Amino acid sequence: MAKVTETILEIDLNALEHNYRYLRSRLRPETKFMAVVKAYGYGSDAQEIALCLQHAQVDYFAVAYVNEGISLRKAGITTPILVLHPQKVHFKKLITHNLEPSIYSHTILGQFISMAEEMGTKEYPVHLKFNTGLNRLGFTYDDLMDIHETINAQKAIRVKAILSHLAATEDKNETEFTQLQLSRFEAIYQKAEAMFNYKMIKHVLNTSGIINYPYAQLDMVRSGIGLYGYGNDETIDKALIPVVTLKTIIAQKHIIPSGESVGYNRKYISSKPTVTATLPLGHADGIGRQYGQGNTKVSINGQLAPIVGNVCMDMIMVDVTEIACKEGDEVIIFGKDLPATEFSKTANTISYELLTGMSQRIPRILLKN
Ligand SMILES: *Cc1c(COP(=O)(O)O)cnc(C)c1O
Repeated sequence: MAKVTETILEIDLNALEHNYRYLRSRLRPETKFMAVVKAYGYGSDAQEIALCLQHAQVDYFAVAYVNEGISLRKAGITTPILVLHPQKVHFKKLITHNLEPSIYSHTILGQFISMAEEMGTKEYPVHLKFNTGLNRLGFTYDDLMDIHETINAQKAIRVKAILSHLAATEDKNETEFTQLQLSRFEAIYQKAEAMFNYKMIKHVLNTSGIINYPYAQLDMVRSGIGLYGYGNDETIDKALIPVVTLKTIIAQKHIIPSGESVGYNRKYISSKPTVTATLPLGHADGIGRQYGQGNTKVSINGQLAPIVGNVCMDMIMVDVTEIACKEGDEVIIFGKDLPATEFSKTANTISYELLTGMSQRIPRILLKN
């Protein structure tokens, strides 16, 4: 592996393929797999992630917004792409780039049909999204009659798939609620298929759903975090490999006499002679101030160094008093050896937030084979 000379985000595509194969192995062979690559591929590089998974013959991609889907098309992605939360202003571009909208309200349905008719589409594929308890986006069971009437009265769009999203698949204390959501969804898709009198692709499970409710895999699953190496579960985490590792180097070392302060607002005061190392990344890179002044540690030469004082915009200081290290040495912030789950926990957040917060100014370095 090349020597690290600045802050980088290493993206291990072999780990990605491993995670994909592992998650697939837990499913029936005929179940379709939708890879969720929204938010820059959970903060990595959506285009590279998608190209790798397209090569591995993933069935579908999901993004949150239209522009994310367009950027995949521009990278050469020809696999179907679902846009989870399309905005009306981008409907035209959505159709031009052959993206599939998730339609969640009568308003959006009407607006999308108007655009589809204006552009002269025939049976353009859409996914109908139902709210079964997350109470975020979606139609309800009682909307089905009207949805059917609206869609039946035109030819520009056709229902290709039907979906819902679960609120707490990773939480073993919420099994009953998840089962309630699943049974609500079942009632919805059975009625929908009976009304429309054709089959739809039914999809409801996210990563933790694949792990904890495999019987509900239906026709397709939607996995994000698992592909990036985290399963919201200690046992599963052992089977997965973190795809992204944030690395940097020691820019400078300081010997701090007892009683001196370190950083803005003097939030660290040394109680004994202390050696600190300054690292070239900060809250502008996605390591927020909540990681400062406390428990969060980074890894230097196999040992853990706590972050001292306030995290600055472009720099972080760590305590290396007990660590043999020199300027230029490699530092692992999180990733392999120091999972994002552990790192994020020290600031009371989750791997998802840490990963998606990685700034675009950090160079992405791809590892393959
Ligand atoms: C983000 C998202 C997912 C992926 O969830 P993971 O927990 O990362 O697997 C699936 N479905 C919807 C609707 C989402 O918004």
